[in-house]
Amino acid sequence: MSEETIFSKIIRREIPAEILFQDDLVTAFRDIDPKAPTHILIIPNHLIPTTNDVKSSDEKALGRMVTVAAKLAQEAGIAEDGYRIIMNCNKHGGQEVYHIHMHLVGGHFLGPMLSQDR
Ligand code: 5GP
Repeated sequence: MSEETIFSKIIRREIPAEILFQDDLVTAFRDIDPKAPTHILIIPNHLIPTTNDVKSSDEKALGRMVTVAAKLAQEAGIAEDGYRIIMNCNKHGGQEVYHIHMHLVGGHFLGPMLSQDR
């Protein structure tokens, strides 16, 4: 049994977050510490700790995450110039919250895909 994170409380609206979209499968809200002018997190409503834990039964929710990201990018006015979608996994990926989430970031030129610093 996986442990819930703060994101489950955001989904249930038990703690505040700026929720931009919610349906039966996914929730999208602004990141509390934005790394770009637009920084939105899109998450499945059911707990999947990491992308290593994704199952075929999760495909509907994961597909919805992408269509919601595209819709929110349009609404944020960043679709034409472009943006980046990121999912971090475990320690080397820099994952901090163990409930999978898609970062939708944009609003200015994002630079190289990966930092050259190690
Ligand atoms: P990760 O490093 O796991 O890929 O990203 C976790 C993200 O969740 C970070 O960008 C962090 O700022 C965001 N975050 C962590 N706690 C909260 C919270 O309580 N509310 C919101 N809105 N974002 C959070």
